[in-house]
Amino acid sequence: MTANWTIDGVKEALAAKKISARELAADFYKRIEARNPELNAFLTLSKERARRQTDKIDALVAGGKPLPPLAGVPVAIKDVISTRGIKTTCGSKILQNYIPPYDATAVERLEAAGAVILGKTNCDEFAMGSSNENSAYGPVKNPLAQDRVPGGSSGGSAAVVAAGLAVASLGTDTGGSIRQPGSFCGVPAMMGSYGRVSRYGLIAFASSLDRIGPLATNVEDVAAILQVIAGRDPHDSTSTTAPVPDYRTELEKPVKRLRLGIPKEYFGEGMDAGVRKKIETGIELFKKLGCQLIDIRMPHTDYAIATYYIIATAEASSNLARYDGVRYGLRVDDDSLLAMYRKTRGAGFGAEVKRRIVLGTYVLSAGYYDAYYLKGQKVRSLIAQDFRDAFAKVDAILTPTSPVPPFKLGERTDDPLQMYLADIYTVTGSLAGVPGISVPCGRIDGKLPAGLQIFGAPFGEARVLQLAHAFERAGGAAV
Ligand code: GLN
Repeated sequence: MTANWTIDGVKEALAAKKISARELAADFYKRIEARNPELNAFLTLSKERARRQTDKIDALVAGGKPLPPLAGVPVAIKDVISTRGIKTTCGSKILQNYIPPYDATAVERLEAAGAVILGKTNCDEFAMGSSNENSAYGPVKNPLAQDRVPGGSSGGSAAVVAAGLAVASLGTDTGGSIRQPGSFCGVPAMMGSYGRVSRYGLIAFASSLDRIGPLATNVEDVAAILQVIAGRDPHDSTSTTAPVPDYRTELEKPVKRLRLGIPKEYFGEGMDAGVRKKIETGIELFKKLGCQLIDIRMPHTDYAIATYYIIATAEASSNLARYDGVRYGLRVDDDSLLAMYRKTRGAGFGAEVKRRIVLGTYVLSAGYYDAYYLKGQKVRSLIAQDFRDAFAKVDAILTPTSPVPPFKLGERTDDPLQMYLADIYTVTGSLAGVPGISVPCGRIDGKLPAGLQIFGAPFGEARVLQLAHAFERAGGAAV
């Protein structure tokens, strides 16, 4: 059996009756059973739901009916995305037995397009983290180097794709959580523009930043998944009415003469020498493809980490107020209501989530609001303006995804600030609302993967995918 299935590969095999959707899913579950005990990438398997879906697909095949775009494609869903009837824990103890009564729109659309949901993937608690080590259910191991982290917070979603335990997955990105694990696990991973994909059913971390997006084994499959999940959803008023282009057709457009901005601020101190070498070689590859490289400045980049950690924690402190032991998940009983709240939240949340609730409450509190939260919002506008200025001159922006290669498990857990600094290149695009992809860009010393990040103008996903596809096809993963 082919180890590396692609969406087209699955479709062809089904249509030619080489394998049934049921057999394919069973094969993936076999692989999961073999590898998941060591990787810890799946938290919950949804075999029954998968069975219902594969029966539907196999009936279509048997009836000679046309197959939907993702027919029979085994996918995995990050555990912060709601799945009806299937446990959705957010990597937290506070939701350890929570079973959503409805599906996220992205999940509903995947299934309507024929995808088979294998299960839910591990992640940092409430998507807060960059290494997956903040999960209440234990860390995920990087399938490419098992002493290393897979990145985070969508570490499980990246690991399952890299290990061949799913053809594609959904992750979420608030400050880098799709792109950075994609980079760490050597798979393409995309965050569309804010508003491109409905957030309905995504359990909120920071609502003005949160986005759902795909990880897959190649850019074409990333495009195919985005195609299905993108577009207006009446359940999410921040989802855009802008039409969704045909991404897969756009992929084939020539990249020659496109202007690519290289922002000086993303190549400063603090970048690992091995990462730098790979990214520079990757950028050279674009030159060979006929693109024009242009040095640009994005002067507010230095403020992005501070701004992100003010705005994201402020929103998190408000969003996470709902976990009070009354309506959802865990409750630790006590005679007084206040003590019940305290005990429930004390026992249910992990250290990083508590740290962020405290930080967020602080930056929103009377007397500090103007100095931190309001200031943060103003700087956010300046960062967005940097992107607007850049896109007046260039068609896309190239940067590293992460300043460092995948680090060792446990190496940064005692130093939250070091962990926050790892987000330096990804949080800018999050604050600005622009789309971004991470594509594999060689292996450092032949081993650990580096990721090249491509930012596009708002709703310019097609351009981002087109460049990523050209890069991949030109051998970007092996530079
Ligand atoms: N690592 C960042 C954080 O900890 C981003 C997380 C995310 O994108 N969900 O907040």
